[in-house]
Amino acid sequence: MASSSEMGSGTDSRAGRIAVVGSNMVDLITYVTVMPAPGETVEAPDFEIGCGGKGANQAIAAARLGSQVSMVTKVGDDLFGDNTLRNFADNGIDTTHVKKVAGKSSGVAPIFVEPSGENSILIVKGANAELSPADVDAAADVLRQADLILMQLEIPLETVRHTLGRAAEWGVRTILNPAPAAADLDVVDLRSLSFLIPNESELALLSGLPTGTEDEIATAARSLIAQGIGTVIVTLGARGARLVTADAVTTIEAVKVKPVDTTGAGDAFIGSFAHFLAATGNTEEALNRAARYAAQSVGRRGTQKSYASAEEFQTFCE
Ligand code: ATP
Repeated sequence: MASSSEMGSGTDSRAGRIAVVGSNMVDLITYVTVMPAPGETVEAPDFEIGCGGKGANQAIAAARLGSQVSMVTKVGDDLFGDNTLRNFADNGIDTTHVKKVAGKSSGVAPIFVEPSGENSILIVKGANAELSPADVDAAADVLRQADLILMQLEIPLETVRHTLGRAAEWGVRTILNPAPAAADLDVVDLRSLSFLIPNESELALLSGLPTGTEDEIATAARSLIAQGIGTVIVTLGARGARLVTADAVTTIEAVKVKPVDTTGAGDAFIGSFAHFLAATGNTEEALNRAARYAAQSVGRRGTQKSYASAEEFQTFCE
């Protein structure tokens, strides 16, 4: 394992400003021995509630590492919404642009974790579906000051498109994690995007090309770059990630850990990448640190709960 001086830590750089325009969910996590077949009822040994949602997860990872994070999102007027607001505040995240929607539920995500660490997830978007272009404009003061704006696809596509357009006007760099995979996402809309971070299946859906081999991954990623996206970073689970530009593919090695719970590994990777990129300005170095941060989360149970603080990450690197 690399030493902390080779890897750098979460604390050795300036705190960047990250704005997340994205979702929040409450995770309802059931740890199962076996998944029930249709019509079957089975007992599960354990259950937990946790704060989640791809936007919130990525925000929490960046905040725990020391970035100044602002969240632009919507919660329902229910106990889950209050809990989410408290969780953001507890993690030092600016909630000026977190709005409560009357008469709407918060987003919730029932998650089933199997003994192998594999997970299956249902998403009820709730108030996240109400996050609109007008909400983005209302948060312009924060967004235009950010080093990076981070987005995913658990909010309406028109809001993602609008944010990308605004960010281009302001000259703010953007990261899109196109998850969950959306068939109606048009690559033409992503022309101004700085970084696209799909996994293999999201890349296949967006490019319309196979992603079964290393060559196919590079070709599919390059087809998106040819349409104007700056850089594509493909995450491949325990096989690490690939940084693809127009003329090079760089392998980002995964860090070996005994997987305990892979839920939210992608969000740990992307949120921490945003932090390290804003802090260091070096894409490859930021990705190597993000792979280490995500691996640490895979070795622990839970989603946000598994995201290390800067100090815990430093210890993991030593
Ligand atoms: P999810 O939706 O489950 O969060 P994802 O498909 O978006 O996952 P992955 O490609 O599974 O994202 O994981 C993101 C990164 O996390 C990988 O590129 C890798 O660096 C790290 N990672 C994931 N799983 C493992 C693992 N089992 N061991 C080590 N590192 C891992």
